Amino acid sequence: MAMLLRRLKQRLREGGRKGGFQCIATSATLAEGPSNAPAVAKFATSLFGEEFTGAGVIMGEEEPLPVPGEATLSLADYRSLMEGFQRSSPGKAISALAARLGLTTTDAENETCLGLILQRDCRAAKLRNLLTAGPRDIKALAGQLFDDEITEKERVAGLCLLVSLMNQAKESGTGAPLLPVRYHLFLRSLEGAFVSCWPQKQVFLDRASTGGEHPAFEVALCRECGQHYFVGQRDSGASRLVEAIRDPGEDKFGATFFRPLEEDKEPTASMEDTKDRDVWLLCIQCGALGKDSLPCGHGHTIRVVKEKPPADDDRADQLSGCGACGYNASGRDPVREVVHGTDGPHAVIATCPFGKGV
Ligand SMILES: [Zn+2]
Ligand SMILES: [Zn+2]
Repeated sequence: MAMLLRRLKQRLREGGRKGGFQCIATSATLAEGPSNAPAVAKFATSLFGEEFTGAGVIMGEEEPLPVPGEATLSLADYRSLMEGFQRSSPGKAISALAARLGLTTTDAENETCLGLILQRDCRAAKLRNLLTAGPRDIKALAGQLFDDEITEKERVAGLCLLVSLMNQAKESGTGAPLLPVRYHLFLRSLEGAFVSCWPQKQVFLDRASTGGEHPAFEVALCRECGQHYFVGQRDSGASRLVEAIRDPGEDKFGATFFRPLEEDKEPTASMEDTKDRDVWLLCIQCGALGKDSLPCGHGHTIRVVKEKPPADDDRADQLSGCGACGYNASGRDPVREVVHGTDGPHAVIATCPFGKGV
């Protein structure tokens, strides 16, 4: 950030800016009180490369929470309010509750009426008070707000419902949400996709979660037709389908792609010469590989086509063309493992409405 600011300043100077710069920053977390002002000024000075003093640091003042009303709404009340908002017709639920609480809500918009109702609710007030004290564990918080008559799962669901309503509700006067919440999503890039076929078909997006009890094969997909492949070690004359070696420094660097044959559909693909196929047997219970028979005797066997590797050794971890559709991506890796080291999928999640988190 400091580097970007310096580059911006440099550009502005080169563009003809002669005067000084007025730098303004806001933070919700940096200072706890006026005594921290000199430290904050020092931080801002380093960040912007401009002089800041303690006098330039303006502290926020917390507004006291309004005194709550004495009513306590039930979980059923929250549900009926939420259902009303979801159907874009909360009027009925609002007027019923307003009448019960003795509120006059004429002419105010639905979100403001909801704010008035929830400001009378002891539980909503308790939630705001508890949250001003700092982060809370969601289960413990739900336990403090809802009594033991409902299960823990229902208490947590009730808390989420209340939070969601309070986020929609507006305070009359300011129009600010009763509880401005943000959801933070923590994302990790995919290391690959793995499938196990026995005892049932399962997909794993994390190597560790495969459990290791039964073999899980890494999957690669054709970028054109979506055909899936199991990825095994390079030149697997081996008797077992094991994970490919990805380190280009290793001798066995590279991969072999095995295309499972769907017995009822094969041979249908027009692109392949059936005589040319190198068909192997794969035991989905233990991962044993063999040409004509398997020594393991498990009896859970599928047929797979061992696809030909590209002639070029630099592409030892790739396939020259998709065995199902013939796509070759002009020599640029037609079949790829499900790995996202770049931030593409994360960007999609982060920019979707849920990711924005209101
Ligand atoms: Zn294909
Ligand atoms: Zn076996």
